[in-house]
Parts: sequence; structure tokens; C-alpha cells
Amino acid sequence: MPMSCFNSLNKMPAQYYSHGDFLKVNFGGFVPLSTVDWRGRSVCTVFLRGCPVRCTYCHNSAILTGEDFRDTEEIAGMIHDARLLISAVVFSGGEPTMQRDALVALAAKVKEMGLFVGVQTNGVFPGTLEMLISRGLVDRISLDIKARWERYDNLLKGNFVQNVQKSLELCRSAHRSGDLPEFETVVTLFRGYEDEVQHIAREVGDVMLVLQQGVQGNIRPLSLAEMQAVADRIERPVKIRTREDGEVVYESNRRRGVACQW
Ligand code: SF4
Repeated sequence: MPMSCFNSLNKMPAQYYSHGDFLKVNFGGFVPLSTVDWRGRSVCTVFLRGCPVRCTYCHNSAILTGEDFRDTEEIAGMIHDARLLISAVVFSGGEPTMQRDALVALAAKVKEMGLFVGVQTNGVFPGTLEMLISRGLVDRISLDIKARWERYDNLLKGNFVQNVQKSLELCRSAHRSGDLPEFETVVTLFRGYEDEVQHIAREVGDVMLVLQQGVQGNIRPLSLAEMQAVADRIERPVKIRTREDGEVVYESNRRRGVACQW
């Protein structure tokens, strides 16, 4: 979807219906069984098409644009068929919160099946997150933090930072009150940008911070040891995710000197 459609991100994203029939969703893909999208759980992952952001490292660039409208009932059927092997459904993208009504409807169907709901989001549509949380339709939110606040809009070439800050506050508050059982902020970290983490850690405050290994082109990804060195500088427990070592919960060696497998 072109950026021009999002000149006011405070407005709700467009909704998709077909002649009064089932609610439509712009579908991006389906993975019936995943063990990496919600560590500790077997899940299926539903990808919703479309995103107003254009990260240079995006691994799902094929579904940032285009149309593949399906009935939400069809997607619910896919989840239903996978339900015996999973305990949760993760909605990813693209940006799943861009399709508010379809996401809310699908999350409600997932809850009816007795499964947990996770959402991976860039935080650009806080209104959708608010609706999911207020209706008790989400158990876990992973919120991407792309940069320190002062660099955000310049880096992403759009007016995003205020909405991401709003999403952060919304999720933080809901997590503290118990309305959102699990909440984490995720920083995708590339070589040369290690110093950014100290700024981001200060800005997000006291929430779980995940350092995720960035992989792009010929840039050599940071190793687990290098990412631990970054974590040492911020002196707080973090999760570190790398392709080689999976997810590690790490507490700075300035605090305790231990790392443990998640
Ligand atoms: S916000 Fe996520 S889906 Fe959108 S371009 Fe960036 S990485 Fe890709």
C-alpha cells in the first residue's frame, strides 16, 4: 500500500468487506507449525499483507504490497485444522495491525478455539492494539523498536514515532495491570549500530528488551558474544536471538556474569 495512504496514521486503517459477506483479510501467508515465533510454544503463524514502513532489511518484502483477499472464515479454517499441534497463533506480516477489523475478528476466533494470541507489530497502529487489549484478545505483543526516537522518522521516512511511542505506553501499562500477560520490545541489531542500543534501552524504560541479530546482504551479522558485549554496556537483563544460538536470556556480566539458555 502506498505511503500516501497513511498521511494520517492516527486514523484507523481501511477495512475490507465484500458486499456484506464475511469480513475480508488481505492475506500474506500461513505457517501451520512454528517453534520460533513464540519461544516455548508451538504455534501457527498467520501473515497479513501490507505495511506502511519500508525497512531495508525486511525479510517479508514480498507481502508488503499487493492483494490476496480471503474470507476471515477461510483463515480461521486453516487455524482450526492446525489446532491439535499448537497452543497459540501468532499474527505477523507485513503489519498485522494495519487490518484492524480483520485482525480483531481473527483473534476472537482464535480465542474461541481456546488458543493464545500473539501479535508481532511495528506499533504504527496503536488503535488496533488498544482494541485487542481492551477486548482481552491478545496474550503477547512483540513491539519492534527500529531506532532511538530522534532518528525514527528520518530513518523510516514517515511520521511514525508518536504512534510507536503511544503503542509502547499502551502495552507497558496493560502489561503492568495484567491485561497483557506478555510484552517485549525487539531491536534488530546490525553491525555498526551497536551504540544505538544504549539510547533505546533508556527510552523504552523498564520493559523486556530483545536484541535480535540483524541479517542483511553482505553485512557480517553480530555474533552472540558481540551481542552480549552490547548488553554488558546497558547493564540490564535482555534476551538475545541469533540464528546460530537461538534465544538466550542474558544478564550483564557487570551484574552477575551468567548467561542461561531460554
Ligand atoms: S515494519 Fe516489519 S514488515 Fe514492515 S517493512 Fe519493516 S520489517 Fe518489514
